[in-house]
Amino acid sequence: MQKKNIAILGSTGSIGTQALDVIRANKDLFTVEVLVGNSNADLLIKQAQEFLPNAVVIADETKYQQVKEALQPLDIKVFAGEKSVEQIVEMESIHLVLAAIVGYAGLASTLNAIKHKKHIALANKETLVVAGELVSKLAQENNVHIYPVDSEHSAIFQCLPGEGANEIEKIFLTASGGPFRGKTRKDLENVTKAQALKHPNWSMGAKITIDSASLMNKGLEVIEAKWLFDLKPQQIDVIVHPQSIIHSIVQFADGSMKAQMGLPDMKLPIQYAFTFPLRIKNNFPRFNFLDYPNLTFEKADTDTFLNLSLAYDALSKGGNMPCILNAANEVAVDAFLKDKIKFLQMSEVVLNTMQKSKHQTNLNYEGFVETDKSARIIAAEEVSKLKI
Ligand code: NAD
Ligand code: MG
Repeated sequence: MQKKNIAILGSTGSIGTQALDVIRANKDLFTVEVLVGNSNADLLIKQAQEFLPNAVVIADETKYQQVKEALQPLDIKVFAGEKSVEQIVEMESIHLVLAAIVGYAGLASTLNAIKHKKHIALANKETLVVAGELVSKLAQENNVHIYPVDSEHSAIFQCLPGEGANEIEKIFLTASGGPFRGKTRKDLENVTKAQALKHPNWSMGAKITIDSASLMNKGLEVIEAKWLFDLKPQQIDVIVHPQSIIHSIVQFADGSMKAQMGLPDMKLPIQYAFTFPLRIKNNFPRFNFLDYPNLTFEKADTDTFLNLSLAYDALSKGGNMPCILNAANEVAVDAFLKDKIKFLQMSEVVLNTMQKSKHQTNLNYEGFVETDKSARIIAAEEVSKLKI
């Protein structure tokens, strides 16, 4: 494999730091070309001192001086602000961009990277939820590959080589069910953010951990799968699998099913996105069947966790509805994390925002930006009505 220069957008986050672990173990294969973080200047500086990238961007402009001064002796270029995050991906020397910023904030830089013909390792699922049609079209026009990092989508992707033109009949995205699996709406009325932030199988950033507890994460993943694998909503099913060993399943036209399995560890899908189509050696812990004598499956409880149904609704409505769903959810999760609303009220904010927003189709980029903005205003009003 030719050595790859990688730009890591969101290097200070859960995916970003695990990506750096993968790179650290394979310095002969990868170079860190760019590091981008939001506001954790101390960690960003530490990472830059270790990996010596060409350039570093800190989104939070108030931290510019601190980063600049620390990295000056190392001859590392330092930029700050949202526009720089978007523009840095244009650098000639970048081969692959890891999109690991969380939320809508990751959209502009990913789109710009695609426009500049950079292949994408995609962790930021919100990009495809917000503007999947636009992103897929641009990727096709620019011959850009989008390698999924999300474990479920990586699993599907890993089941496809060798299948040629064989059609996918259906996919099954597995869901752990999160910390509240088996609970009733009554049980969930007063759950705290500390309880919601305790995921049974994965350690992740705060937003996706809350999304996992509310099943919105699986809803976003259904939409993400539609765009990655060109599927109809009825071809995408969700099955709860509490052990998170089978990461997802593809069913082909003859009914045969292929699954990808292993211990829950994001480093594997990150590494595969970096090395595809090759598999390289690593020392990640191996799965032992006897540690897991029972792999179990159950139906997702969409009466308790409304978000999954809301995401399917948004997907079948199409146009800007998934963008509205995503914006409302980002506002709702933020409000929940700030103790402004209760756990179950997050779905209420999303539902009401979807009902009150204007449904449009055939949008361009500006149309999605406008949708995101107006949906956030409506969602914030919904939050203030519910405020506890
Ligand atoms: P995180 O909160 O741990 O990290 C987010 C990163 O984005 C940080 O580096 C932060 O500095 C950066 N960031 C945030 N806002 C920014 C902005 N405006 N400009 C520039 N940088 C900004 O989140 P995470 O858990 O690493 O998740 C990242 C993405 O990957 C999310 O879209 C998530 O859904 C997806 N994902 C994560 C996991 C996981 O295991 N953590 C698994 C699958 C998918
Ligand atoms: Mg996932």
